[in-house]
Amino acid sequence: MPIRLLAPATINRIAAGEVIERPAAAVKELVENALDAGARRIAVRIDGGGIARIEVTDDGGGIPETELALAITRHATSKLTDEALVRIATLGFRGEALPSIGAAARLTLVSRPRGQDAAARIAVAGGAVSEITPVAAPFGTSAIVEDLFYATPARRKFLRSVASETTACADAVRHLALAAADVAFALSIDGTTSFDVPAQDRRARVAALYGRGDAEALVALEAVREDITISGFISPASVTRATARHQHMMVNARPVRDPLLRLALRVAYRDVIPAGRHPLAALWLDIPPEQLDVNVHPAKSELRFAAPDAVRSLLIGAVQRHLATPAGVAAAPALRLGGG
Ligand code: ADP
Ligand code: MG
Repeated sequence: MPIRLLAPATINRIAAGEVIERPAAAVKELVENALDAGARRIAVRIDGGGIARIEVTDDGGGIPETELALAITRHATSKLTDEALVRIATLGFRGEALPSIGAAARLTLVSRPRGQDAAARIAVAGGAVSEITPVAAPFGTSAIVEDLFYATPARRKFLRSVASETTACADAVRHLALAAADVAFALSIDGTTSFDVPAQDRRARVAALYGRGDAEALVALEAVREDITISGFISPASVTRATARHQHMMVNARPVRDPLLRLALRVAYRDVIPAGRHPLAALWLDIPPEQLDVNVHPAKSELRFAAPDAVRSLLIGAVQRHLATPAGVAAAPALRLGGG
């Protein structure tokens, strides 16, 4: 067969496999878009493990009717200039999420920027794009994803049970809600409210999402070295869990699942907690963007640090200092519900 360029729909379907590994990845991309749009409140509804339906509604800046078609076009983004790849300040920048979702599922966008008389609606299913039609809707954007992977049955086969996809979707929303504590968040799963929290400070958000008992045991942590800062909350050695599900890392407000940070946390606790147990941690790392590469993987949750040893030792040192000295714990008061 001679060499030829693939059709855009095929390219999007291939990319969808990388960007949207499972429903939770679609949830993450849509909520990140809402945060990038400056939303003050984000409501997420997940039905049938996110395979049947995902709906993310925000009150952010919206997409002008004239740009709706571009929003679902590959490599089209309002967030990145070609020069800015070294200093990424938004959660999205690759312009891949919406076209990838639209290639694998039925995607509907309803959006109304401030000043636009009505909302406009566009739909894309298996890569085929609808006409744009006017609809009534408040300011902001709703993204609705239905029948995820119906157009990519090979991927659909690899999904786990509806229950475990639901858990993964809820974990993704929780992680984003921690990363953006100053934004109100609501999550509803199969018609039942899972949480509904106002804009909060980090302390109150951790308490709301981790639950009263866990949150009250947590210890505040703060560490600075040159231009790297780590702050947040960790559990004392006496409070552990059987899984690492209560460990959330945010780097420059981006929720990440970074192996280096996870391992550093494990090392920090290694000598004080039993094997097979995991501490609780919600940690925010702030680092100059030029010391960080977030463009390692299409899902953007892994990082490359320019100075990994500095990050690792700062985190390990900070955790061990806060665990070891009772004075340190006293100086950093335990988390109180409603406090701060
Ligand atoms: P990226 O986020 O990498 O730019 P996406 O495919 O996720 O790529 O989105 C494409 C574009 O659509 C964004 O750059 C943005 O301009 C617009 N967009 C997507 N979702 C929203 C939203 N919820 N509110 C406002 N604009 C949005
Ligand atoms: Mg995006």
